[in-house]
Amino acid sequence: MRLAIIGSGPAGYYTAYRIMKKMPGSYIDMYESLPVPYGLVRFGVAPDHPEVKKSSENLDDVAKWPNFNFIGNMPIGDGPGRLPLRTIAEQYDALLFAYGASKDKTLGIPGEDLHGVVSARSFVGWYNGLPEYDDLNPDLQSSDTAVVIGQGNVALDVARTLLAPIKHLQSTDMSEQAIEALSRSRVTNVKVIGRRGPLQAPYTIKELRELMHLPETGFVPPPEGWDELIGVERKKLPRQLKRIAELLEKGSKTPPEQAMKMWQLGFMRSPVEFLSSDGKGLDAIGFERTAYTAEPSSVLEQEDTPTLSGPPAALNALRALGVRSTGEKALVHTSLAFRSVGYKSEPLPGFDELGIPFDQKRGTIPNDKFGRVLRPDRSPEVPLSAAHSPGMYCAGWVKRGPTGVIASTMDDAFASADTVVMDWEGNARFNELGGEGEKGGWDAVKRAVDARGIRSVSWADWEKIDAEERRQGIGKGKVREKMRSITEMLRFLDA
Ligand SMILES: Cc1cc2nc3c(=O)[nH]c(=O)nc-3n(C[C@H](O)[C@H](O)[C@H](O)COP(=O)(O)OP(=O)(O)OC[C@H]3O[C@@H](n4cnc5c(N)ncnc54)[C@H](O)[C@@H]3O)c2cc1C
Repeated sequence: MRLAIIGSGPAGYYTAYRIMKKMPGSYIDMYESLPVPYGLVRFGVAPDHPEVKKSSENLDDVAKWPNFNFIGNMPIGDGPGRLPLRTIAEQYDALLFAYGASKDKTLGIPGEDLHGVVSARSFVGWYNGLPEYDDLNPDLQSSDTAVVIGQGNVALDVARTLLAPIKHLQSTDMSEQAIEALSRSRVTNVKVIGRRGPLQAPYTIKELRELMHLPETGFVPPPEGWDELIGVERKKLPRQLKRIAELLEKGSKTPPEQAMKMWQLGFMRSPVEFLSSDGKGLDAIGFERTAYTAEPSSVLEQEDTPTLSGPPAALNALRALGVRSTGEKALVHTSLAFRSVGYKSEPLPGFDELGIPFDQKRGTIPNDKFGRVLRPDRSPEVPLSAAHSPGMYCAGWVKRGPTGVIASTMDDAFASADTVVMDWEGNARFNELGGEGEKGGWDAVKRAVDARGIRSVSWADWEKIDAEERRQGIGKGKVREKMRSITEMLRFLDA
């Protein structure tokens, strides 16, 4: 079997790893937009979480396998420097889409384009050396207060990065220009604001705890008080939520009155407008207060029966409790805001031509949950088992939507890999584009790549970049100093 995987993040490399173990006779080529591998493990995961980045060693293992090719600097798509999807589709028995979510969700409110409103995706990309955001240059000088809109783990990463003592970041792989800009930052107060309450916010306890333990940084409790916000007697809370409530109520290790920097969580506020006096730069953010759609304590009373298959229904019901707008306005003054309301995937150019569907609302490739891509023309009467696009698979964020950590992406990638193997061994129909018979794989695609004048980057090339980045890091006491532009990477390889 010849398989092309599109994307070299965790979804791509865990799929390759699993297939390599289960079907060592298969050939896998991994196409990656950038000259460097690992997706969000290199460009998303916070630099002060080096233990998380170890997951990329799985790809290093895969790359030792003789039947594997890494093909970097190879964005699949239309236009100059890109490789059309059809060109690869004809040369493989199967394609597996693992290209993640490379856009961020917007709020759709006035003023979102003002100077000073920064997307968390671009900020995270900038401090992680993602070429696309090398020139972001966020203004960390004009305001001592920064607002982060959204309360997921990415929002907490942004807050922690803004508040962390610079010595915590200096030895990481954070880009040099970001370390320099953060060391001059005037931001000492970060407000992380969300639409819902303390027990509904999407953050996880580990990330909350990290912020509570940040040296020299105090946590300021919300003005409403925890009782009003939580709305449930602590002893009645399911264990997981009780731990979050206790952590929040306990507050920061550094008492606020002794702290050099502060952070706050603002709950039950939905942003409605970014305001500017000159029409250019951000001055303030308008919020509308929200209220729960039902009393939290009543939700708990209705749903307190534990289920066999999962956490108690009460926990799910309380986590899912909705909010509505109250119309009451609130204003926060700042010239720096980070929008952190999620990532989103887009279809690849060429999907229509190949009959590959895309669900714009969910931002995912419709699939049967086991990783098989569904046919766009399937009718509801056709059983799922007969409704697949032969040879088309997906994994990771583009399969299940942009949520979940690396561990859940791994489980999901293993499930897709197992499906590919099961289908191949069960003689299912595979990709018939380009006719039947043996497919040419990378050898055949390479001819088209050369004709287009695209400089592909092999695993050996990546190893040279890797060694140079580590060498550059040593002099600075860092893990590595990343090359931050594609031109720099290619120039280094061809020097
Ligand atoms: C800011 C941030 C911090 C995170 N921190 C953590 C953490 O601390 N711990 C944790 O467990 N999880 C963390 N996660 C979650 C984790 O990163 C994801 O679960 C995981 O990366 C999803 O894997 P993926 O392979 O689906 O997507 P990605 O990692 O995004 O990989 C997709 C790959 O496809 C490539 N690609 C895109 N388009 C194309 C194309 N047209 N052609 C070829 N290649 C293409 C991309 O360049 C990328 O390399 C974090 C996520 C974010 C956003």
